Amino acid sequence: MFSFHYLASFLGDLEYCDDSEHTMDRKFTLWPVLFASGVVQSLTTASRIISETNARLQNENASFPAIHFQCLETLHGLLTWHHAMLESLRAGLLPLIVRTASMPKENTEGVDALQTLLDHILPGSTVSYTVVAELKVQLPAVDSIIGPEFQNSRYASSWESFVSLARRRIDLMDEMDTKASVVFKACDNMDCDTMGPKTNFKRCSNCREAYYCSVDCQKIDWGSGGHRKRCHSIRTHSLKNDLDAKNRAFMRRLLRADLVERRYEEALSLHDPGCLFFLRDTMRRDPSDLLVTVLDYSANGYPRMHIEGLAQLRADDERGAVYWEEHIARAARSRGRMELHLMLVRDGPGSDWVHRRKRWLMFPQRSEYPSFHHALLQIFRHREETDETETVAQIMNSAVKIH
Ligand SMILES: [Zn+2]
Ligand SMILES: [Zn+2]
Repeated sequence: MFSFHYLASFLGDLEYCDDSEHTMDRKFTLWPVLFASGVVQSLTTASRIISETNARLQNENASFPAIHFQCLETLHGLLTWHHAMLESLRAGLLPLIVRTASMPKENTEGVDALQTLLDHILPGSTVSYTVVAELKVQLPAVDSIIGPEFQNSRYASSWESFVSLARRRIDLMDEMDTKASVVFKACDNMDCDTMGPKTNFKRCSNCREAYYCSVDCQKIDWGSGGHRKRCHSIRTHSLKNDLDAKNRAFMRRLLRADLVERRYEEALSLHDPGCLFFLRDTMRRDPSDLLVTVLDYSANGYPRMHIEGLAQLRADDERGAVYWEEHIARAARSRGRMELHLMLVRDGPGSDWVHRRKRWLMFPQRSEYPSFHHALLQIFRHREETDETETVAQIMNSAVKIH
């Protein structure tokens, strides 16, 4: 047990110095190695075992609470990483949380890690298919250990909110996994308007990311559409992508569901004259710029929405950049019928909340008619400032109805 204390302290220190600019390279090479050596599983198991011992044993072993909370403190710095969250859940993270929260109040005083886990990290991880699938297995199992101590604890309401979010995400996952659910696609030749069930389309056999209604459309997109320039790098990067197709499909589905449900929030942000001024200014500086709707899940797993000029934003890593290039090129040729949406999630370790790695994922959405973004761009490019607010409000109202 003492060795766990030292291990946890060591990792905590390491994580702290990891955030300095001079160790950026180390940050991305060291954590995967530690993770592969089973650190997350060891820390979760050690902490869970202590939380399961009875109060008498805990009192007799004065070092137990210190080890326990050091483990929790270090763990919570790692668990924003979806791979780590999955492993920790399998090692008993949920019973560990419930038992720790059920401890007498004076024992958990000053333990911020537990609160951060419940309010931010666990809810934030429900954007990952693999994490949600594991929660579906683990959640029913902890019901039996939830007692009055837990329900009267200061963590109970955070737990309730997390569980209700997790249940919604489990429903979404189940819906995606039922055979009856049909995935719709649009032909990736941007001169073609064909849309329909995915099964009606053929996939580019090289990159496996582009879909076409016919061989002719594939030829057009390969040549004048420019897919030839990007197909190979998309294939190379999709092979290295640590998010598999299922996780990406789940994120896409979540984003779509939230867009339909919460688009009015975007409308609200556009009623703000400051926001309009900023967008108009962006578009005047670069009239070829596109708009993008950002859904930011990084705070607590619920999306916060806003609209932004694309030129302000960059893909956060090499893997993302190649998809951005492809989607942006298509959107520019879509005559307003393709909208770009960005999902912002936390997926990576770090010692403090602000510096944990955020990840941008871009998903395009096609429609039969020029989109809401397109209508907004027309206003910014062609109308006078004075009638802008009113026109935007009108477009938003109709857009909300369409969606
Ligand atoms: Zn291809
Ligand atoms: Zn086509």
